[in-house]
Amino acid sequence: MAESVTVREVGPRDGLQMAKTMMSTEAKQRWIGALVAAGVREIEVGSFVSPKKVPQMADSAAIVRSSLALPELHVVALVPNLRGAQDAYAAGAHRVSIPVSVSEGHSRSNVNRSPAEQVAEAGRIVEWLRGQNRKVIVEAGCATAFGCSIDGVIPVSAVVAIAEGLAEAGVDALALADTVGYGNPAQIKAMIRAVRGAVGDKLQGLHLHDTMGLGIANAFAGLEEGIRHFDAALAGLGGCPFAPGASGNIVTEDLVFMLESMGFKTGIDLGRLIAARDFLHEGLPAEPMHGQTAKAGIPRTYAIAA
Ligand code: ZN
Repeated sequence: MAESVTVREVGPRDGLQMAKTMMSTEAKQRWIGALVAAGVREIEVGSFVSPKKVPQMADSAAIVRSSLALPELHVVALVPNLRGAQDAYAAGAHRVSIPVSVSEGHSRSNVNRSPAEQVAEAGRIVEWLRGQNRKVIVEAGCATAFGCSIDGVIPVSAVVAIAEGLAEAGVDALALADTVGYGNPAQIKAMIRAVRGAVGDKLQGLHLHDTMGLGIANAFAGLEEGIRHFDAALAGLGGCPFAPGASGNIVTEDLVFMLESMGFKTGIDLGRLIAARDFLHEGLPAEPMHGQTAKAGIPRTYAIAA
């Protein structure tokens, strides 16, 4: 049996927040439907932020609700604060993801709080969700863990301290995020080791951007360190409006190509995944589409993991 790797599609959240035009609710639903039809089983479908701050996310409650009807889909929503977590719970999300920047500058810009204050907010979210009837998985992403376009170098010790704070706050899972895409494979490995040394198996995910062209190399470094949960965006859409200089996420199609070629099982049909790009393009015709796999076509040597 091939080992499984979870590829979480974050295009409908991370990808759309930078898009210059709006994608309609119906177009988002068709796109998410095409991703699920390709075998994607975990999607970050939206973000419960102020629509004034990120207008593309204004229909997140409707998108969560319609996504719940899709078969076997784990529905994830980004929540920057308790209010967002309450809204995500009301909409029915299976998992919430809380961004916690390690960098002071990005934290202020993104959530208008210091990193320590955002760790405390994560604690309030955990506590509130524990008091509800339905179990919701709480994940926190240590943002700007590999460098910041505002604050520059981020020390390993700072990332470890935030991860420890979040583990103490009771989150179920932690991810490391290269929000601006400045990380390199050696750094990815060293950071995973340091954070795992502090919080153990709570560290599960890696969220990478391809700003410097090292996204897939960084994913490989994470894979070698035992990470089995990766975020990616179809056509490499994305970026953070509150982190100047950030470009798109790693390309889902290219990541699936690498993983399946190496013998890992993603459950995703690469041909149908590439076909899902049409729905993205239909909803956002002006947005540039990235990715080598779609450009080159699936090679004849490609065989999916058994
Ligand atoms: Zn991101």
